[in-house]
Amino acid sequence: MSRIAYVNGQYVRHADAAVHVEDRGYQFADGVYEVCEVWQNKIVDMPRHLDRLDRSLNELRIDWPMTRSAVEFVLREVTRRNRVRDGLVYVQVTRGVSRRDHFFPPEDVAPSIVVTARSTSPKAAEAQAEKGISVVTYPENRWPRVDIKTIALLPNVLAKQNAKENGGKEAWYLDADGNVTEGGSTNAWIVTKDGVLVTRPAESGILRGITRAVVLDLVQKEGLTFEERPFSLDEAREAREAFVTAASTLVMPVTRLDGKTIGNGHPGSVATRLRELFHTATDLRAV
Ligand code: PLP
Repeated sequence: MSRIAYVNGQYVRHADAAVHVEDRGYQFADGVYEVCEVWQNKIVDMPRHLDRLDRSLNELRIDWPMTRSAVEFVLREVTRRNRVRDGLVYVQVTRGVSRRDHFFPPEDVAPSIVVTARSTSPKAAEAQAEKGISVVTYPENRWPRVDIKTIALLPNVLAKQNAKENGGKEAWYLDADGNVTEGGSTNAWIVTKDGVLVTRPAESGILRGITRAVVLDLVQKEGLTFEERPFSLDEAREAREAFVTAASTLVMPVTRLDGKTIGNGHPGSVATRLRELFHTATDLRAV
């Protein structure tokens, strides 16, 4: 079975899927995106992801390429046509195709939309979660509007590549005050020595992760002690446990930071419990 992508109104073979060379996404990274998890034939938290897409589009003054319900339909359809039971569905919207010029294109230029989906291995993800991942710190290199989920990810690419070249799976950004902001493509959490769960407030320095929001709901439901506040690299080094969250990783324990073990070097009980409970707190829409 060949993979299918949706490109500006058409379902095409993934191998043939293409956008115009003057698409503003290609020329200027002038676009936004969302990634939803697909879990057991259901799209996870689609309404929350589309709310954030709406916000990102508004912040950049890009129109919806079609109605929100049409986007929902296409997300389901691309997932279904690719027979993705467990995996990810991706939507990208750019400011459209127009002669290369920094100014916004004429009003009649329609935004572009691309939707793709791919399967992932739940088994491989579980094996990774049982081991935990290593993170490598990196100085903050992004613009201040990290609250917008833009496709301009070059700083994140550099941070994550540096992590990879230093034996890590994820980068942890450090701001000028020596605080951890977030990961290259995840939000960052620690559990302090005293058992307090800490994550940075979403007001500045991070993307307001959907997975983060679900985990915060769970944390409250479970009655865990938590604080939304910045935490420093020193605190992270001393933490009992650490983990990251994203639609693509769910709750993923962090067991090494810059090559040194965190806690006892094994996934922590809080992260493991939150991972187990995760889908009980999500909105699930059948494909
Ligand atoms: N932070 C950054 C920089 C991200 O790119 C992502 C996801 O791609 C996240 C956090 C986690 O967001 P979500 O939980 O909505 O996937």
